[in-house]
Amino acid sequence: MTVQELTLNILAERLITVFDSKKLVSWAVEVMLLGYESEKLYVLAGLDFTSTEEREKYFFESLEELNIEVEKNEDKLIEQYAITIAKKAVENVIDLDYAFEKMRKVVSASEYDQKYISFFKIDEDLDSLRYNNSVLFNSELTLENAEEFILEEFKIFLDMENLKIPIEERKKSYCENCFKLNIPITKSKYQFKKPFKYMVWSCGICGSTKLKFDSNHEVKRLIIKEYKKHMLKMALPQ
Ligand SMILES: [Zn+2]
Repeated sequence: MTVQELTLNILAERLITVFDSKKLVSWAVEVMLLGYESEKLYVLAGLDFTSTEEREKYFFESLEELNIEVEKNEDKLIEQYAITIAKKAVENVIDLDYAFEKMRKVVSASEYDQKYISFFKIDEDLDSLRYNNSVLFNSELTLENAEEFILEEFKIFLDMENLKIPIEERKKSYCENCFKLNIPITKSKYQFKKPFKYMVWSCGICGSTKLKFDSNHEVKRLIIKEYKKHMLKMALPQ
């Protein structure tokens, strides 16, 4: 790992987990092993028995001495970390289970940001599959295809991030009546039993309720394809 990667990891861990500041000491040792030298780094590497405050003080001073640039904005830092994790999972550099566990932590640390919410939904569904043999969000997910499904989710996440697809676009559904991607709307329906009136999701274009939602991988792939087309159109001279 490069010093940038090591540093991104440790800063993200500080945000997404219950953090033991001893890890800052290990970070200093690893950075020294990469051949970096600085006065504060040496001190930090020896702080085995001291307070978190002191370790953090030396950590940030080491970053300064070594001219290591870090992202100050927490949301952006978590985003950088999530993208790194996804890349490594897709390239098979890290274990898929490990990557998935980190993404679940990213989901809660980001306060359920829509960007990462699919990983939460998969996790919920895996629990439901184990205990009730049912799913709430991902109808194509099974215990047998979970690994493949999660890997595909990482690939989709990377594609969407690389294209910087806006969240609104990512929430689109596919209508099996008018064959278009659309932002679904709710519609009232009536029946002769309780509840007499109930709400359903329907196509924002034609009103049909024959929708495939954004948790579906085919729908996600379609969103990516349409967005690429849209970007291409924008790039062409009018
Ligand atoms: Zn429609």
